[in-house]
Amino acid sequence: MSATETFHYVIIGAGSAGCVVANRLTEDPSVSVCLLEAGPRDKNPLIHIPAGFIRMLFHPKYNYMFMGPGEANLKNRPTFVPRGKTLGGSSSINGMIYIRGHARDFDEWAELGNAGWGYDDLLPYFRKSENNENYKDDKAHGTGGPLNVKYLERPNKLNHVFLEGAAALQKRKIPDFNAGDNEGYGIFQTTTKAGRRHSVARAFIKPIENRPNLKIITDAQVSNIVLNGGRATGVAYTVFGQSHRVDARAEVIVSAGAIQSPQVLMLSGIGDPAELGKHGIEVKHALRGVGQNLQEHISAPVHFMSDRITSYGISLKAMPKIAWNALLYAFARKGLFANNIVESGGFIRTMPGLDRPDVQHIFVPTHQGKPGELLAWGHGFRITTVLLHPKSKGRIGLSSGKVGDPPVIDFRFFSDPGGEDMKALIRGIKDARRILMTPAFDKYRGVAVWPPESVQTDEQIEKFIREYSSTVFHPVGTCKMGKDDMAVVDDRLRVRGIEGLRVVDASIMPTVTTGNTNAPTIAIAEKAADMIKEDARGTQRKAA
Ligand SMILES: Cc1cc2nc3c(=O)[nH]c(=O)nc-3n(C[C@H](O)[C@H](O)[C@H](O)COP(=O)(O)OP(=O)(O)OC[C@H]3O[C@@H](n4cnc5c(N)ncnc54)[C@H](O)[C@@H]3O)c2cc1C
Repeated sequence: MSATETFHYVIIGAGSAGCVVANRLTEDPSVSVCLLEAGPRDKNPLIHIPAGFIRMLFHPKYNYMFMGPGEANLKNRPTFVPRGKTLGGSSSINGMIYIRGHARDFDEWAELGNAGWGYDDLLPYFRKSENNENYKDDKAHGTGGPLNVKYLERPNKLNHVFLEGAAALQKRKIPDFNAGDNEGYGIFQTTTKAGRRHSVARAFIKPIENRPNLKIITDAQVSNIVLNGGRATGVAYTVFGQSHRVDARAEVIVSAGAIQSPQVLMLSGIGDPAELGKHGIEVKHALRGVGQNLQEHISAPVHFMSDRITSYGISLKAMPKIAWNALLYAFARKGLFANNIVESGGFIRTMPGLDRPDVQHIFVPTHQGKPGELLAWGHGFRITTVLLHPKSKGRIGLSSGKVGDPPVIDFRFFSDPGGEDMKALIRGIKDARRILMTPAFDKYRGVAVWPPESVQTDEQIEKFIREYSSTVFHPVGTCKMGKDDMAVVDDRLRVRGIEGLRVVDASIMPTVTTGNTNAPTIAIAEKAADMIKEDARGTQRKAA
């Protein structure tokens, strides 16, 4: 073990949240931060090419590629759970869709007793993080922030066909998904810049990585938080099998994401005594909520083949187009490789009386070999239909007390007693089908692959969903913020009952947002950094 260094703050995980917090805390040169990341540096060029997303989804060096156990309500199929493992975390492998959610999401967090987390409280943090290339002088958007947000220059043509189809069904066209109310159909904004992915590592770390008060250690797998008399005082980690420790004078901040933050807490002896006991881990602090309240967006496709090469795809016919686009990207960072593949969509309420959309449609102009895959040989298009507000809740458990072993990820999809989750997804699938059957698609539409035409009744669609659904990679909620017994952190994101320890990442969301989860995670981290600074000032005042 090497000599122990001491910093004011030690951050576990350089993902969407960890990078933001590291940047903001080191703005003050008198504050020192150590950022520990289990993955390697983000050197692979495919991380930075937007269309490289297809490869990063299955890249074992930069992606944990977890598998959940067989899901009881999905015919015992295991769920694929990709998570980023590099600087930038999941923002370095994600689909780059920039969606904040619906204003009601955050107002609901505040109504649950979390003071300061309503939409009006979070809006300044969304704006602070953002450099929006398209919306200037706009109440909802920011310019001059670290994270570049923009519309693609040339989305695939089929996205416009999709919007024409939606319009033909009188669906609302939305000019901006990120102004509070996201109901409607339109083109998504992306976290890209000049034809490259703008991960949080590129946005928040690259420009400041040489600050003398920031130390970044990659390939550093945290094994546990060091606790001393009810206070977090440091972190133990390994780099290529070598043990190290780093001490925190002020705080340890856990930003390992919704799958691994609860795992790190449990391995440190903080969690449900029953779960810790199963793996011989000494209970340092009983907190039953750790790992509970897991929420994820389950989805199912409506997918057609196409004879045309308009969609992204690999085929002999498309080879000249692919070759031309490769050159275009190499020389000008333009063309299809500069695109993020998932470029348009919509948010709908599938029944009256809902206070916000319950289903998201993501239009994907590629052929997929099997649901969950992004690209296969051939051409086609689909609407990935996403259940936004699942009533079913799952949990993260431990598979062993050994660091490095994967956690148990048990989503428990469709386990809600009323069966509401299934009913909403069936309604969403029917609606997606209606859009793809409009005349706008007539010249592109080939054979229906999923669901096949024979699947028509609700019972048949339900059976199809159980066989072919997959997730869209938005796990949240496993260290939830709140006031009840199952809350893991309070509304300042401090772990209940332990001094000097916070969780800052997607795991603190009490309920999942209406859409993709990167932007809200970044806003959470921006707010957390301000709270950490405020609390430090309060401690200094008390000491003076
Ligand atoms: C394939 C994919 C596609 C997605 N597409 C989109 C999209 O298009 N738009 C969108 O808004 N959202 C998308 N998301 C979701 C979004 O990226 C995540 O919600 C967000 O990045 C979560 O941020 P986080 O900080 O909570 O965790 P992460 O960004 O996952 O960061 C956690 C970090 O902690 C590190 N870590 C974990 N355990 C340890 C340990 N023991 N020691 C040290 N380090 C550790 C990890 O290596 C990782 O770098 C997608 C996610 C995935 C995986």
